[in-house]
Amino acid sequence: MTDHPIPAAPPSVRTRVRRVAELASYEQATVHAIIDDAYLCHIAFSDALGSHCIPTACWRIAEHLYIHGSNGSRMLKRLLDDGDACVTVTHLDGLVLARSAFNHTMNYRSAMVYGQFEKVDDIALQHAAMEALMDKLVPGRQAQVRGGSDKEYAATTVLRIALDECAVKQRSGGPQDDEADLLHTVWTGELPFTHGRGPAIADVLCTSEAPDYVAAWSAQSA
Ligand SMILES: Cc1cc2nc3c(=O)[nH]c(=O)nc-3n(C[C@H](O)[C@H](O)[C@H](O)COP(=O)(O)OP(=O)(O)OC[C@H]3O[C@@H](n4cnc5c(N)ncnc54)[C@H](O)[C@@H]3O)c2cc1C
Repeated sequence: MTDHPIPAAPPSVRTRVRRVAELASYEQATVHAIIDDAYLCHIAFSDALGSHCIPTACWRIAEHLYIHGSNGSRMLKRLLDDGDACVTVTHLDGLVLARSAFNHTMNYRSAMVYGQFEKVDDIALQHAAMEALMDKLVPGRQAQVRGGSDKEYAATTVLRIALDECAVKQRSGGPQDDEADLLHTVWTGELPFTHGRGPAIADVLCTSEAPDYVAAWSAQSA
């Protein structure tokens, strides 16, 4: 055990934050927390047609970020075909209103991961990865649903990228006004965003009682 945060890795020439470097972090726990709080990442890669940035579901197991899709996916095939990739995860936490127009900003948590994806070929690991995705989306549901068939698994590609080359940039708190603006009278502060949940909508063909995780979701609805 250590009292000090564990760095994910020393910043590389690609991950060293230069602009407003005080917002940077390279701590493993911070990278994990930002990924774990996300359902979605964006993956940038390039091919003969140019650059692409594709949204896709993501989840984390230990020191890897995972994605999945159909074997036929252009993106997945390209990522395996010598594809250098950059993955971003962004949470927008609020708008920050300052005294001057140009000191307005946003509060956010953002992580970037660079590297190469690898295929999860081992069938047991592929199953564990897909079950971890279900567990992230809806803890407890894996045990209730029909599991994936051999055919479904065979048609699905699971990829992962190591969290070896990562950067975090994040901001929180109120505005930072220039001293010369402090006498300017106007409301200043933060307009936070919260991640809202709507009430669960049962499918028309559903005849089952709502399980605890559905009731809990609805209870958290605004
Ligand atoms: C919330 C969310 C979650 C998703 N989760 C997954 C997932 O887990 N696995 C998965 O395989 N896919 C997922 N997708 C779909 C994903 O964004 C891609 O459409 C899919 O992966 C196919 O990519 P491709 O490059 O092979 O598609 P192609 O059909 O070859 O893409 C061709 C072109 O279509 C356009 N295009 C493709 N996708 C999008 C898009 N999402 N929005 C706008 N234009 C697009 C782009 O111009 C792209 O260059 C998700 C999308 C969203 C929004």
